[in-house]
Amino acid sequence: MDETEDESYAAFLAERREEILQRIAEAAARAGRDASEVELLAVSKTVDVPQVDLAWKVGYRAFGENRPQELVRKLKGIASYPQMASARFDMIGHLQTNKVREVVGNVTLIHSVSSLHLAEAISKRGVGHDVTSDVLLEVNVSGEESKSGFSPDEVRAALGDILALPALRVHGLMTMAPAHDMDAARRTFSGLRELRDELASRSGLDLPVLSCGMSDDFPIAVEEGSTIVRLGRTVFDPSYVLG
Ligand SMILES: *Cc1c(COP(=O)(O)O)cnc(C)c1O
Repeated sequence: MDETEDESYAAFLAERREEILQRIAEAAARAGRDASEVELLAVSKTVDVPQVDLAWKVGYRAFGENRPQELVRKLKGIASYPQMASARFDMIGHLQTNKVREVVGNVTLIHSVSSLHLAEAISKRGVGHDVTSDVLLEVNVSGEESKSGFSPDEVRAALGDILALPALRVHGLMTMAPAHDMDAARRTFSGLRELRDELASRSGLDLPVLSCGMSDDFPIAVEEGSTIVRLGRTVFDPSYVLG
């Protein structure tokens, strides 16, 4: 991109960010929540490092990537932008056990711990490298076959073993809602919150973090208690129409 393109893209990013923050504030108000409880994670998987830099300049501070290889590429890229040294990167996508080495120690939060086996691999890697990973447990609340994550029963069964792992701290739960069905999305988000309440009271832990809500459904997620919305298209794509 040349400079004028940069400027107009940055103007789009800034304006859209204000609109998104407004939508979050309105949704929080409808639910009697404080908007400051909701973190906005800009999902940068479809854009390149210069666009991440522009997003940083308009105020985004936290980014999400869904593939380990692309995460590593982005981290290498932003190393040449010193102002972004404190940028937060989270891993939000499906993670295979043979890829944990690319993620552990490189991210602030892993949203997508989807099995006991993966939790064990993350902890094992952490023990070897003196890193305790902050994680969320991904739960397939809607039961769609295409979605990864623990079933609610699996997470109930595995929680004790996961909490016993030495190099892992569980902060809450993450889910993805079915697309194009706002009623199903709401049921998914409220189901995630109820499951969190149940697991928290059983374990005696707080589990304060609920990572849910994407471009099409984040206001509903905020109404239902989300504390991190993961937004890609609505942040970065000028052709995406914010509903
Ligand atoms: C891509 C992605 C998002 C963002 O989706 P949008 O619909 O573009 O907002 C959120 N979470 C995960 C896990 C993703 O892979």
